[in-house]
Amino acid sequence: MVEYRDWYRTQYWSEREGQQIRYIVIHDTEGPRDAALNWWTSPNNPYKSSAHDLIDSSGVVWHCVPYDKAAHHVGGSYIPGYNQLDPKTGRYEPNANLVTIGIELEYPAAPASPPWPQAQIDAAVEHVRELVRTYNIPKANVLRHMDVDPKNRSDPRNLDWEAFLNRVFPVVEQDLERALRHSAWNAGGVPYNPESAFASYAREHGLGNPETPEFDFTFDGQAYRGQGFSKAIIYVRAGQWDQIKEVPW
Ligand SMILES: [Zn+2]
Repeated sequence: MVEYRDWYRTQYWSEREGQQIRYIVIHDTEGPRDAALNWWTSPNNPYKSSAHDLIDSSGVVWHCVPYDKAAHHVGGSYIPGYNQLDPKTGRYEPNANLVTIGIELEYPAAPASPPWPQAQIDAAVEHVRELVRTYNIPKANVLRHMDVDPKNRSDPRNLDWEAFLNRVFPVVEQDLERALRHSAWNAGGVPYNPESAFASYAREHGLGNPETPEFDFTFDGQAYRGQGFSKAIIYVRAGQWDQIKEVPW
């Protein structure tokens, strides 16, 4: 059982501006728990930084910012498929804080790199598993700070990320999920192709269930492939399979 404590003392958060929670970003504190908590209430903190939760080295989860607010933890980050660089402001828009839950793991500052305490990792696995179920977040959307800001960040350091993710999303459950998805698509009359970029795109972007099979069409001499999901039609030009675009119905 994970031990939770409420510590809603930081004022450093913003509204989510109507955006849904779609990602979790894991950090490490690079210093003791209390130094991080003090920083999130310090008037000298120029970034007004914060996180939703801090999991200390003993495995206690400190709730610091309510999930319906945007904590300030990835303001400068780039999440492919969500935001892009705005040449006018030089910032990634929309702000990654709006769609993420930020979780800090207490860990000493570099260059110290001790093994992670088992109790802390166990608590983090259980807590993140609870969050991905509550907010229906796929494995691909659980990220490290270093994944979304690789130039400036290397946290969480020294963490076996693949092992962590595989505990949050147990393999048996992934297999069951895949089998269930396959059957559900077929029951809905749409053949399911697990390799399809459309299926994973629709899942990651919350586009709802498939309304049509994949279909090919031609426009202005160019070949395209498309598929309708309940919230949008998505399509791609033949050969540019990673550049999926969305249009409303
Ligand atoms: Zn970080």
